[in-house]
Amino acid sequence: MAIIKSIRSIRTRSDGSWTIVQVNTSQDGLYGIGSASDLYNPEAVVQVIEQLFAPLLIGRDTSQIEDIWQTMQHSGYWRSGSVTQTAISAIDMALWDILGKEAGLPVYRLLGGPARSAVPCYGHASGESVSELIESVQRYLEDGYSVIRCQLGGYGGGGFVQGSEARLPEKAWIQGRFFDEQAYLHSVPAMFEQLRLEFGSGLGLTHDVHEHLSPITAIQLAKRLEPYSLFFLEDALPPDQLGWYRQLRTLSSTPQAVGELFTNPQEWLPLVQERLIDFIRMRISKAGGITACRKIAAVCEAFGVRTAWQEGGENDPINQAAAVHLDLAIWNFGIQEINHFHEKELEAFPGHIRRIGGYLYPSDKPGLGIELDETKLNRLRQKDWECSSYHRPYPLDRKADGTIVRP
Ligand SMILES: [Mg+2]
Repeated sequence: MAIIKSIRSIRTRSDGSWTIVQVNTSQDGLYGIGSASDLYNPEAVVQVIEQLFAPLLIGRDTSQIEDIWQTMQHSGYWRSGSVTQTAISAIDMALWDILGKEAGLPVYRLLGGPARSAVPCYGHASGESVSELIESVQRYLEDGYSVIRCQLGGYGGGGFVQGSEARLPEKAWIQGRFFDEQAYLHSVPAMFEQLRLEFGSGLGLTHDVHEHLSPITAIQLAKRLEPYSLFFLEDALPPDQLGWYRQLRTLSSTPQAVGELFTNPQEWLPLVQERLIDFIRMRISKAGGITACRKIAAVCEAFGVRTAWQEGGENDPINQAAAVHLDLAIWNFGIQEINHFHEKELEAFPGHIRRIGGYLYPSDKPGLGIELDETKLNRLRQKDWECSSYHRPYPLDRKADGTIVRP
């Protein structure tokens, strides 16, 4: 039996955007790692891990994963929230890692064994114009992907208008460009029309609205995209407007993928129970870790909803490993979003997930199968190695009159 001896947080990347938790045990050399990364509140997550959870968990049997999860979830009385759920998720991942190492088995085998031979993934193609985007998609095709996300530049791309080309109010708040829903509503279907003409009907295509639209415009977009048979449309609506998925579902057959902002262990439930979505997209490290997400996947299986766990942004390689172990073991897996890690970043995590063409593979070593090279993690911290391009605080778009667009 292994006992929790200490819990340590490790910050890395030059902007400190990755936080790794290491749970050390009473057995020599036996420890587990988990992802505690939160780009916007890293210090708060570390506080919860070190000040709230560590004193609570030191001395506990590492194999009591369910009981420790319930302890963390309820020991603060008030539940949920991004910061607390990230801390819970990280420790939960580390405990599954320890259990696998003790058993000498990869985590996906502890979860029931593989339900497929590899994990299909999708990449992020992007271009400021449709012709640039077509070139980007072509590169992904040559690299072996069969599902590709397509964006006109950053989120909201295709909907931006230069202030110099519009009638703006006096003393306008916006500088440069602003977001216009009607421009987006016209440009995104036109983009997919071009993509289908170029690549035919066989290629899987997705698009991330990133919640930029008002509900009725999101419904109009989903309807207009029907002729292009998307693999899914992502975050057509913000978490504040989930009720509109009932109308959207009635009016459009475009598949819907939702959930990357969910942190409450049950806020996804009505969408699944009412069969309003097709893919659930929580981030493992925001939804409560492997313990919570395997339960979420089981409920989704009963309602015909597949998984597409969120990655892709500022996530670290440990969260990716946790996602891939779940992807292998759950029957109702749909697809896995890919991260575009730099080679130097991956070198700091020996045993990291490998991508070959459009598939992901775990290392098959015990536990999560991924380790830390602390020297290289330190190297990622150096200021001369700018490995992150993400912004804090989150950059918000605005409409012509200055109104903030969500998110
Ligand atoms: Mg997204």
